[in-house]
Amino acid sequence: MPEPHAQGDFAPERRMLIGGELVGSSDGAEFDNLNPATEQVLGQVADGTKADMDRAIASARHAFDESPWSTDRALRRRCLEQLQEAIEAEREQLRAELVAEAGAPVAVTYLAQLDWPLADAFRWPAKMIDEFPWERQLSDGDLMGVTSKRLVRKEPVGVVGAIVPWNFPFEVTANKLGPILAMGNTVVLKPAPDTPWNATRIGRLIAERTDIPAGVVNVVTSSDHLVGEVLTLDPRVDMISFTGSTATGRRIMERGAATLKKVFLELGGKSAMIVCDDADLATVLPTAGAVCMHAGQGCALQTRVLLPRSRYAEGVEILTAVMQNIPYGDPTDPTVLSGPQISALQRDRVQGHIDRAVEQGARLVLGGGRPAHLPTGYYIEPTLFADVDSSMAIAQEEVFGPVLAVIPYEDDDDAVRIANDSAYGLSGGVFSGSHDRAMAIANRMRTGSVGVNGGLWYGADSPYGGYKSSGAGRQNGIEGLEQYCETKALGWSA
Ligand code: NAD
Repeated sequence: MPEPHAQGDFAPERRMLIGGELVGSSDGAEFDNLNPATEQVLGQVADGTKADMDRAIASARHAFDESPWSTDRALRRRCLEQLQEAIEAEREQLRAELVAEAGAPVAVTYLAQLDWPLADAFRWPAKMIDEFPWERQLSDGDLMGVTSKRLVRKEPVGVVGAIVPWNFPFEVTANKLGPILAMGNTVVLKPAPDTPWNATRIGRLIAERTDIPAGVVNVVTSSDHLVGEVLTLDPRVDMISFTGSTATGRRIMERGAATLKKVFLELGGKSAMIVCDDADLATVLPTAGAVCMHAGQGCALQTRVLLPRSRYAEGVEILTAVMQNIPYGDPTDPTVLSGPQISALQRDRVQGHIDRAVEQGARLVLGGGRPAHLPTGYYIEPTLFADVDSSMAIAQEEVFGPVLAVIPYEDDDDAVRIANDSAYGLSGGVFSGSHDRAMAIANRMRTGSVGVNGGLWYGADSPYGGYKSSGAGRQNGIEGLEQYCETKALGWSA
């Protein structure tokens, strides 16, 4: 593992990208970017206004309507390959930046926080520009005595507002930009105020290192969520691609209804890991420690472990040892899995979930608060609750902290029932000594993805998203490309 860049050694970009130019905000204001591990101000970034957002939308609209972007596939392919190369060239600066501004453990940057998405986020959509089924011939039609040739054609949606959260900011940004741009759309990217620099870096690289026409990508940073909300209200924006909380997703849908926005929503989760009675608990249960990855701030993390009653005590004992040994603390330490929460507000929210679980009678086995040895930084101890009932808030609500809830079950039907007893339906896992049994359970889980016996589904070519309140639509895969398209049916008399 190469040494990560030291903090501050990554030349952050404080300007936004609007209409092809790197600019400060219209009123000159900036806001602070905080390191959640040190509580220190790292530096500043432009505090975009509604006027800046208006200009960004106008630029994206103009670039869609007037530039060759939406029709020139060769240009798009070349530009996406340039962007992939440009980001790869600054990979180590970006890594250090993500560790500093997101509090992401450096080890996690070698996984889903940076290296996994960077591998293919622009390369795969670029390749798919040539392979995507842009047109589909139908059989001849015969209505009212007219014989018609018929064709279905895919076209870009138009201007997309891409709204990104702070937990896996580069991962989400890259997996939005790649497919949005490959399909010929233009975009206004709005990063979360907590993690702006990875996005402004991409903005600078686009301006300086690619042939992407001015206005095709705009990056607007702001401390004010309502600047992002302009995207949901403006009639020049055709679609919103949002990743974040279910509450904000709901609000975006409501706000977008006035102009009938198309929406892609990737929202919260309360994913279950079902462990069958024939599984090798000593091998399987250590993987449940992944709930602490990036301090539990991941929507697809398996935050509920469902254990068979016949092996419940044994399972809880192993999980206790697993959670006791989670390396947590300073995210620059390469052995650490769990860093700080993103903010004091987020830490306090997690503490509220923990306190409510105790009040409701869940058994606190481990953790439960702020670690005494880490007085600085927004840390929460790895926390384990046992004897959780599916009706408790800790089994139902997204905590977004390093908190695991263990729920006993009677048989496979009961396990599936509990796993599906959720407003969410994002992801999940199942472990069994029998592949067929595990697959049968996976097929009954009402979630957008399932890992079977430790298998991983992640990839730029793999659709990712949720059932129920976990969202609408899919990120990545052919499905992800299709959602950034309109569909046109053509008929002409033969
Ligand atoms: P959020 O969903 O409110 O914020 C995500 C993004 O949406 C940010 O860029 C923010 O500026 C923007 N935003 C907020 N309000 C908006 C609005 N009205 N219109 C347009 N854009 C808006 O997340 P949060 O408040 O920072 O976190 C709250 C909770 O959300 C967390 O505790 C966690 O449970 C959950 N969360 C989930 C995910 C996920 O990936 N599923 C990501 C972040 C947070």
